[in-house]
Amino acid sequence: MHEADHEAAGGSRRPNFVTHLECGMTGARLEAGRVHGLSPDGWPILVRYDLQAAKARVDRDAVWARGGGFWKWRELLPVREADNVVALGEVDTPLVSVGPGVWAKDEGRLPTGSFKARGLAVAVAMAKELGLTRLAMPTNGNAGAALSAYAARAGLSATAVCPDDTPEINLRETALQGAEVLRANGLIHQCGAWVKARAEEGRWFDFSTLKEPYRIEGKKTMGLELAAQWGWALPDVIFYPTGGGTGLIGMWKAFAELIELGWLDDESRPKMVAVQAEGCAPIVRAWKAGERHAAEWKDATTVAMGIRVPKAIGDFLILDAVRESGGWAQAVSDAALLDARARCAAESGLLLCPEGAACLAAYEACRADGRVAASDSAVVFNCATGLKYPMPEVTTRLDLNS
Ligand SMILES: *Cc1c(COP(=O)(O)O)cnc(C)c1O
Repeated sequence: MHEADHEAAGGSRRPNFVTHLECGMTGARLEAGRVHGLSPDGWPILVRYDLQAAKARVDRDAVWARGGGFWKWRELLPVREADNVVALGEVDTPLVSVGPGVWAKDEGRLPTGSFKARGLAVAVAMAKELGLTRLAMPTNGNAGAALSAYAARAGLSATAVCPDDTPEINLRETALQGAEVLRANGLIHQCGAWVKARAEEGRWFDFSTLKEPYRIEGKKTMGLELAAQWGWALPDVIFYPTGGGTGLIGMWKAFAELIELGWLDDESRPKMVAVQAEGCAPIVRAWKAGERHAAEWKDATTVAMGIRVPKAIGDFLILDAVRESGGWAQAVSDAALLDARARCAAESGLLLCPEGAACLAAYEACRADGRVAASDSAVVFNCATGLKYPMPEVTTRLDLNS
């Protein structure tokens, strides 16, 4: 075990409060400690904890005082054996002010440069704990990079199947970190179908978004961390760039768990806003139509690759959370998000990724039309470092000899 892993693991024993897993749609109970993909009915699976026991034994401020980034929340995570923790120097990500009343939670500071680290670190640790050895997923970029890094560290094999136009940097970082990288002539859900067919033949375990139970648990730590940073409270509105929706679902689950633990008041729950790109907005369309499931979006296109997800298997969990929170789903154009990126970088000094910039553009539109008041506090999620994305060329030349 590496030194960093041991420290993040918090010694060799991890008090664990997992009681069981359940189907996210039907609530059917499933046994913990076994390999699960989707539920028997074909829906994403959620992890459940004995929060009353945790409430009696765990002190929120003692947890928050620990190091180790998201691994500090060990009592609320599914990993049992400290030896299975895979750590790469995780940090709590900062809230950076990007205007009056609005902060960006800058997830670009995490290992592999995106919040995919949270979900994949926990999912890979659980794969190791449950004895899986070969993992594969379809990915638009950042998930593959995080899978590759944490699988390398855990000693597991990983395959990333990427749409042809996945950014070069993501393909290359993923390959360098040891995963097999396959460029495919299709979109992410078509890559997913290919991975699934080979998982059924026993070639690997399907590690797609929400097709295993633990990525949500890792992403949940965004909500735990934000609550602690906010002084055990939350902003009025959260803008989240929604692709597969793991983070939005995870945060909503985190808030419910914190309330049950008595670490957070019910009234502090924020409005959740699912932000998508106009060129790929299946959740926005379903939200407007009052539907619980979102039909596939045809001919998806946007520069914000992380949210170019035409069909999300957890659509009902996203839509339920958005509605329960009193929030909404909103699409922004590529032009608006690129403009928001440029202004934020030049005025606030923070280079957002296009998905984060989409959230800032959505926030600005809501301030303009009154959905968000000047007195409201808001957090936009900047889910990856802006450095991983194409940027406008610099064309000004200086002739030093003239
Ligand atoms: C994956 C990704 C998203 C979407 O995250 P989900 O939780 O799957 O909806 C948004 N932004 C970036 C940068 C991503 O990599």
